[in-house]
Amino acid sequence: MRILAIAAHPDDVEWQCGGTLALCKERGDEIIIAVATNGNVGTGDPLITREMIAATRHEEAKASAAILDAHLIWMDFDDEFLTDNRETRERFIDAIREARPDVMFIHSVLDHHPDHRLAGSIARDARIPASVPLVVTNFPPTAIPTVFEMDTELGNHFEPEFYVDVTRVMETKTAMLSSHKSQAAWMMHVFGTEFTENMLIQGRFRGAQACTQYAEGFKLLHDWPYTGDARLLPSK
Ligand SMILES: [Zn+2]
Repeated sequence: MRILAIAAHPDDVEWQCGGTLALCKERGDEIIIAVATNGNVGTGDPLITREMIAATRHEEAKASAAILDAHLIWMDFDDEFLTDNRETRERFIDAIREARPDVMFIHSVLDHHPDHRLAGSIARDARIPASVPLVVTNFPPTAIPTVFEMDTELGNHFEPEFYVDVTRVMETKTAMLSSHKSQAAWMMHVFGTEFTENMLIQGRFRGAQACTQYAEGFKLLHDWPYTGDARLLPSK
């Protein structure tokens, strides 16, 4: 199968579905990671420009994707200012068409971050025009995939419908998130917490809910046209 995880920022996919992607890779799936913004405000260092941090974060995203031999789609929109307009929608449609996914992971619209909420809603909407021939972009139309919403950061406002036991691949998930080296100091600067630690706390909490050590939580998109098939999630 082909699996597309589409997210707002360079480290989002790793946190919310990195373990599930690792399990998908193990069962032989092709993994595609699409990142909407270039993370170009993700530093508190006054000597680092927007262009410099964007370039750093692109390299970090490539290093993370390389762990799963995943294809990276870098959309390069400005961090914190993702906007719902025609350009953004066409770029998302193109990312879905390029990926040709059987399964797509998207942000929950209940997430705390406006870029996350918008990336989630645009990806959800874009799955349909991505299948429409007269919507012309750089890639040909593709079938509408099964869509799962990813958990929110630290699980606020999100009640998972399905859990994936990611205990066995936590080392891979942690390595992927840790590829985003520039973000450890930045997260501490903005939120006063270490982001790998938060990922582990969330993984343990979802794991406890699912009667295992570490888990990731998802909701299936129940919408028309109904393409949902929860059996497409990997098992441990
Ligand atoms: Zn984010």
